[in-house]
Amino acid sequence: MEQKQDKLKEIISHAKEYGFVFPSSEIYDGLAATYDYGQLGAELKNNIKQYWWKSMTQMHQNIVGLDASIFMHPTTWKASGHVDAFNDPLIDNKDSKKRYRADVLLEEHMEKINKKIIKEITKAKKRFGEKFDETEFRKTNPNVLRNQGKINDIEASMKKSLEENDLEALRNLIVDLEISCPISGSKNWTEVRQFNLMFSTEMGSVAGDASTIYLRPETAQGIFVNFLNVQKSGRMKIPFGIAQIGKAFRNEIIARQFIFRMREFEQMEMQFFVPPGEELKWYDYWKTQREKWHKNLNLGEDLHRFHDHIKLAHYANAACDIEFDFPMGFKELEGIHSRTDFDLKQHEKHSGKKLSYFDPERNESYVPYVIETSIGLDRMFLAVLSASFTKENLENNASRTVLKIPAPLAPVKVAILPLVKKDGLPEVANELANKLKFDYNFQIDIKDSIGKRYRRQDAIGTPICITIDHQTKTDHTVTIRFRDSMKQERVSMDHIEMILNEQLGWKNLLTKLA
Ligand code: ATP
Repeated sequence: MEQKQDKLKEIISHAKEYGFVFPSSEIYDGLAATYDYGQLGAELKNNIKQYWWKSMTQMHQNIVGLDASIFMHPTTWKASGHVDAFNDPLIDNKDSKKRYRADVLLEEHMEKINKKIIKEITKAKKRFGEKFDETEFRKTNPNVLRNQGKINDIEASMKKSLEENDLEALRNLIVDLEISCPISGSKNWTEVRQFNLMFSTEMGSVAGDASTIYLRPETAQGIFVNFLNVQKSGRMKIPFGIAQIGKAFRNEIIARQFIFRMREFEQMEMQFFVPPGEELKWYDYWKTQREKWHKNLNLGEDLHRFHDHIKLAHYANAACDIEFDFPMGFKELEGIHSRTDFDLKQHEKHSGKKLSYFDPERNESYVPYVIETSIGLDRMFLAVLSASFTKENLENNASRTVLKIPAPLAPVKVAILPLVKKDGLPEVANELANKLKFDYNFQIDIKDSIGKRYRRQDAIGTPICITIDHQTKTDHTVTIRFRDSMKQERVSMDHIEMILNEQLGWKNLLTKLA
C-alpha cells in the first residue's frame, strides 16, 4: 500500500514537472481539490475525449452527440431527485477534525478484509499450483469463509441503514467495527449527517429562493430534457443513444487523491433509450461494450473489475461500476446503470409535457427505459497516466521514466530530432514537420545529445522519434525510434506517413472495437 501511495506521489510530481497537471491557482497556494491541465494534459484529455466520442457516435449509427448548458432550469433538479436526495452521509473524527464519508469508511474496512481473503488465495495458489480451484477453495477454506461472512454482514447492515436513511445505525456500525480515523487513530466519531452535494448560485441580479440555480452535478439531465428534441429533429428510432461530454460540479465532502475526486470535473455520459422490458438485455450489452472499450487500450492485465452496487439508487433496477486499479487501489472509474423510465417520467410530471415515443414496430407509445454509461474523464486520465507510468532499468546502469501511453492518446505523437543544429538538418526537420502538422502533434527538439532527447520524449510519452542526420541529405532516409521497444529502424522518408498512420491513427484502435 505504501509503495502504491509513493507511486501516486511520483505520478503527481511527474505530471507537474512535464506540464500535464498543475494545482489550480498555485501562485495563491492553490485551491483544495482543483487542478489545471497543462499543455500536455490538455492534449491527453482531448485525445481521451476523442476516443470516447468516436467510439460512441462515429462507431454507432444510432448514437448522436449533444452539448447542453451547465445551468438548467432549477425544477430539473427537483424532478431528478437531486434537491432532496443527492446527499452523502458524512462523519467527523473529533480528534483529527477530519471529515469522512461514512459509507466510504465502511467500504474501505471491507476492502481490508477482502485483502486478507486474497492473500489466503494467493498463498494457496502457490502451494497447489496447477491443481488449484479457486471457487472450491472459496467455498471450503474456513478463514476465507469467516472473512467473507464478515464482509457479507457489513454489506447487509450498511445497505439496510442507507436504504432506511438510518444514520444512527450507520454510525453504530462504524463504532461496532472499531473503525478508527487513519489520521488520529482514534475512534472518537461525531454523529452521521446527510450533506447535499450540489453547488448553488444566483441567476441575474436578484437574490433569493426564486433565482437560486445549481451547477449541474451530472450531465445526464441535459440529455433527458432534450430527449424529444433530439429524437424528433434527428428522426431517431428506438433503440438510440445520446452522448455528451461536459463539466459537472459536486461539493464533495472529501476531495483527496489528486484528480480522482474533485469538486469540478468532467463526465462522458451516454444515455441509451430502449423499449420497456428490454433494459436488462441492453444493460448487459453496454457492460460488455464498455469493458471492451477499456481493455482495448491495453493498459495492463487485471486492471479492471466489475463491482455490483450494494445499494441501488432510487432510479435504478441494475447498476455496476467498472473499477480500475489506481495507485490507491481498486476504485470506481465508470458507472453503468439501468435507470428505468424514472428520469423521463419525473420530467413529464414536473414539466407537464409528454416525453413518450411512438414505436412503429410495436405500434404503441411508451416512455422509454434508459441505460446509462457514465465515466469520469479525469479519472480516465488518471487511469491512463498511472498505468502508463513506468520506470525501466536499461543497460550500463542507466534508467528511464517512460509514459507508455496508448499511441493514439499520446499528447505529442512525433518528435523530430535533427542530429546537429547545422548543415541544413534543421531545415529538413522543418520541411518534414510542415508535412506532418496537418495530422499529428509534433515537437522539434534540437538541444542536447540524442540520448537525452529520447529520454525527454519518453518522459512525456511520445511514441515515435524521427532522427535526421547527414545521411538523410544524401539518401532521403531517417531513423525511426519506437518508444516502448526502443527499437530503431532506418526508413525512407517516403514511408514516414504510412508508418505513422499505422502506429498512431485512430483506425487501428477503433477497428478492434467494431
Ligand atoms: P463516487 O462513488 O466515487 O463518488 P459516484 O458513484 O457518485 O462516484 P457517478 O454519479 O456514478 O459517481 O458519476 C459517474 C462518474 O463520474 C464516476 O464513475 C466517476 O468517474 C466520475 N465522478 C464522479 N464524481 C467525481 C468527482 N468528484 N471527481 C471526478 N470524477 C467524478
